[in-house]
Amino acid sequence: MASPLGETSVSGMRFDTVLIANRGEIATRIQRACRDLGLKTVCICSEADREAPYGKTADSFVCIGPSSAAKSYLNQDAILLAARLTGAGAIHPGYGFLSENAAFAEAVEKAGLVFIGPDSRSIAIMGDKISAKRAMIAAGVPCVPGPDTALPDDPAAVEQIALEIGYPVIIKAAGGGGGRGMRVVPEAGLLHDAVTLTREEARQAFGSPALYMEKFLQHPRHIEIQVLCDHHGNAVWLGHRDCSMQRRHQKVVEEAPAPGIAPEIIGPVGAACVKACQQIGYRGVGTFEFLYEDEAFYFIEMNTRLQVEHPVTELTSGFDIVQEQIKAAQGIPLVMTQEDVTCEGHSFECRINAEDPESFMSSAGIITGLTLPEGEGIRVDTHIHAGYKVSPYYDSLIAKVIVHAPTRAQAMEKMREALADTCVEGISTNIPFLRALFEDRVFAQGETDIHYLEQWLKLRSKP
Ligand code: ADP
Repeated sequence: MASPLGETSVSGMRFDTVLIANRGEIATRIQRACRDLGLKTVCICSEADREAPYGKTADSFVCIGPSSAAKSYLNQDAILLAARLTGAGAIHPGYGFLSENAAFAEAVEKAGLVFIGPDSRSIAIMGDKISAKRAMIAAGVPCVPGPDTALPDDPAAVEQIALEIGYPVIIKAAGGGGGRGMRVVPEAGLLHDAVTLTREEARQAFGSPALYMEKFLQHPRHIEIQVLCDHHGNAVWLGHRDCSMQRRHQKVVEEAPAPGIAPEIIGPVGAACVKACQQIGYRGVGTFEFLYEDEAFYFIEMNTRLQVEHPVTELTSGFDIVQEQIKAAQGIPLVMTQEDVTCEGHSFECRINAEDPESFMSSAGIITGLTLPEGEGIRVDTHIHAGYKVSPYYDSLIAKVIVHAPTRAQAMEKMREALADTCVEGISTNIPFLRALFEDRVFAQGETDIHYLEQWLKLRSKP
């Protein structure tokens, strides 16, 4: 198939050095993929991360600013300067920070470097949840009921939209992310205050007051589809994940495949995602996120980057997603077709966070002792070691424990064993909470919805 972007975008992509514009476990993960592909790495750090282990194994390690992320990992000029000074030909943004920042992708492109991700235009379309919804409707991807336009200012018109959708509705910031900028409205009397509050939050947090409204689904699961696209119009989907185990809209445990979904139900949705990628000229890896209720899928957003939970798909599909992402950025055509994608077994990932297992308050300090699980079907993605200082400045994710086994029940058992063998001393972690969750009988049966974890936590906290 012809690339909608034309051949010019394919030339000049070769690079032998990648600057990793991120930190923590994902910096380690990207460095490993680069090394396996024979590429050199430049790592950057803030003052708080000067001792990071990936710095020691990088070909260059550059401190680009103070501990505050705004002055280091989000400082576009400093990152571009570091790339120029070290001769890096490409920048991998990882996840979070600048990974979905269209202006940064454009600045990288303008500097004559390769941004390892989609082009800035795709990021801009998908970064605005309203234009994303419009693009998905055009590609035949099923969406949550509600208009694909921003909410008008006129309160009567907003009321009319809510009536047409039917309560409960959810108000969302078009530029929102990270589980913020959303408000559920159960009934008409609460609509206007919710719109005013969310608009103000959106203006402050995301720099745009644009909001939209959709049906609030009462008991959905969060299911997502991983896609991989090259620069030549080829695209595949690598199966699905269930990320319904969420606390405050943040994923805690992920699994692949999503249990209990018939191939004939998910198959057309995967195919529609591939078609959408081809229609917008999408390149690299991406994830289509859906809510799934009563055997129907509803698109909510696309993540135009590598995701935290990519390992569960790697273990079931057998593809190294980070290597494939880098190869796509080099202009190398995909070697697999959809027929080559066969997912096997079951995989779980637990996010190990430096936080109190009861209050979830983040916990910084020095890791005085560390034991990580090992064995067949067990993988740990992490940057920590005994003596590592967990900084209070960044996200609390310190490691991911990932397991793979032939069946879901066996994978759960393997995760129980892996968590039993995981010991982080000196700081608090959520490991006790994860251990308890993997003993839960309802979770073990599968198919729990996005509210299950919050309800489970409430029941647990009752005396
Ligand atoms: P973000 O970009 O902030 O992650 P998403 O649109 O992906 O926001 O939504 C995050 C989570 O919020 C979803 O996984 C789901 O738990 C909940 N959510 C979002 N939209 C709806 C909806 N229409 N109905 C019910 N829950 C929703």
